[in-house]
Amino acid sequence: MEAGMERKKIYGLLNTAAQRAYARGIQSGSGGNLSARDAQSGQMIVKASGGSFADCNAEGEGFVITDFSGKRINESDPKPTREVVLHGMLYALSDKVGGVMHCHSPWAIAYAYNHDVLPMTTLHVKLKLGHDIPILNVDSPMLLEEHVPLVRALFEKNPKLTAFILRGHGVVAIGADILEAEHTAELIEETAQIAVLRELLEK
Ligand SMILES: [Zn+2]
Repeated sequence: MEAGMERKKIYGLLNTAAQRAYARGIQSGSGGNLSARDAQSGQMIVKASGGSFADCNAEGEGFVITDFSGKRINESDPKPTREVVLHGMLYALSDKVGGVMHCHSPWAIAYAYNHDVLPMTTLHVKLKLGHDIPILNVDSPMLLEEHVPLVRALFEKNPKLTAFILRGHGVVAIGADILEAEHTAELIEETAQIAVLRELLEK
C-alpha cells in the first residue's frame, strides 16, 4: 500500500473516533486527546494541543505527527497534546497498540474518586473486556516521565489490560486501532455510570 493512502486512512479513523467521543459526551470542550500508530513510519499521529475533538477532521487537521518521545517530525506543525508521554509510552509498550484514547468522561472520573478498581459490573463488560479496570493515582494533570513505571506496572500485572483510569482525571483506553480504543472508553463510561447508579440505589 502506498504510504500516503495509509496515512489518509488513519486520519479518517482518528476523526471518526474523535467525533464519536464528542457526540457520546465522553469528552467535551477542548480536553482529552487521542492518537494512532503510523506503522509504516514508526511514528504516531496525535492530537494537537488545545483543540477540541469536535474540530478535528478527516484531512488530518487538529493532529500532529511525532516520534514516540513526543518530538514533532516537522517543527512547523502545531504543538502536540501535553499527554504525548502517555501516548508514546503505550506504543513503546507493545506493537499491538494501534490507538490510544484519553478522555475526561464524567461517570468514570466520579466513580474513581472513592474506589480502587472499576469492577465488571455488567455481563457485557465481562464478555467484552474480561477484566476489572484499575484506578491509578497520578498527582499531575498530565502523565510525566516519572509516572511511566506506574503505568508499565499495570500492564506487567495484566498483559491483557485494555484500559485504566487516572484518579481525578480521566480514562485511558488502548486498542488495535483508535476506533477499538474509543469503543472501550465508551464501554468504561457506561460501566461506571451503572456502577454509580447501582451503589446509589442499593443505599
Ligand atoms: Zn486529560
